[in-house]
Amino acid sequence: MIDHPLPEPVMLAIDSLEWASFEAYLVGGGLRDALLGLKVEDYDLTTNATPEEMKHVFSGYRVYETGIAHGTLQVIVEGLPIEITTYRSDGIYTDHRHPETVRFSKSLEEDLARRDFTVNAMAYHPKKGLIDLYHGREDLENRCLRSVGNPLERFHEDALRILRALRLASKLDFRIEGATSEALYKESHLLEHIASERILKELLGLLKGKAAGRILGDYLGVLTTVIPELDQENAFLIAKAVEKMDNASYPRLAALFHQIPLDQLKSLFRRLRIDKRTAGKVEDVLEGYHQPLPTALPDIRRFAGRYREVLWDIADLKEATGDTEHLASFRSEVQRIFDRMEPLSLDELAVDGEDLLQAGIQNGPEVGIILDKLLECVYENPMKNTRRALLKYAKKINKNGS
Ligand code: ATP
Ligand code: MG
Repeated sequence: MIDHPLPEPVMLAIDSLEWASFEAYLVGGGLRDALLGLKVEDYDLTTNATPEEMKHVFSGYRVYETGIAHGTLQVIVEGLPIEITTYRSDGIYTDHRHPETVRFSKSLEEDLARRDFTVNAMAYHPKKGLIDLYHGREDLENRCLRSVGNPLERFHEDALRILRALRLASKLDFRIEGATSEALYKESHLLEHIASERILKELLGLLKGKAAGRILGDYLGVLTTVIPELDQENAFLIAKAVEKMDNASYPRLAALFHQIPLDQLKSLFRRLRIDKRTAGKVEDVLEGYHQPLPTALPDIRRFAGRYREVLWDIADLKEATGDTEHLASFRSEVQRIFDRMEPLSLDELAVDGEDLLQAGIQNGPEVGIILDKLLECVYENPMKNTRRALLKYAKKINKNGS
């Protein structure tokens, strides 16, 4: 059934619960990924034991109460963290995100019914086999993501499922079943109830996925509810750009946002709570991207100095969007500049501010101005990057300037 046997610690956790006469099953994404033959990132078990009962069963283990409000304990078994959750049936949802009450349940069936998609709503027991009330196995085989029950209702209950659908379909390269797909669009307005942190997390998951391009091409209009700066008309172009970029976060974010005017980026990043480092990189890529590529060597060096960290990303994004003018020669010149380790920034100059002071230049803003001019001089001719040549040039501009 599953290609590989369950890892020893998972078996041990199931056995431990059963020895104490509880039920336990493997569920969720771990089971789904195992059935797909993918690497399993985390193992989730579901059980009729309450968290208090679990604590007894696992009293000899390290236990973390990470999600105890939802009935989840994390137990470390032989070094492997396993999340174990009491059977639940969710109460009424009032805010499109959190069930009003979390009810523990006595039945596996109820627990599976509250889960979002058929491929996530199976349970597996090493002896009893697969429990598959919603034909998740068949959907897995057809690479199809389908809501458990009525998708409109399920998205209405919890709008995060909308983003989970896009993220999972992208990660697994699944298509989204018809009614589920329609409901994504119909209920997309509910995304405004979802906290930015969750939106960003799912968005980054979507962007990283193998089918990110296809999913964005088909569902960009779902995201425009929360990112109105995106233009659905350009879905195809955006999707293509994303697909072609390296799948780390910042290059894909840059591709996603490549048509948004620079002056709108800062507020967008703040709204999505993108961390400063990532935001800075995306902004650098896009600032560089929106300029014509330089062609003269000193200009290329200046550009390389300014955008050093993201130079290849800028070139890749130009290529990904079909803006290839001067691109090939730009790439080869940049490569040569790097190979020759040409100085590109102030700290790579053969002299620093201290040297200028010692050479008799007065302390003050002038020092910075002169250093900038020295860098300009080195952009023109990297051979000039010697102490002797630069100090001589510094004295000359100092004399002319004062
Ligand atoms: P991943 O591979 O990203 O971990 P996952 O499917 O395991 O994907 P988790 O967030 O770890 O996602 O959730 C574990 C399981 O809990 C899911 O497979 C699903 O059965 C259920 N689940 C999670 N979030 C929801 C939700 N918002 N609504 C309904 N069921 C959910
Ligand atoms: Mg998981």
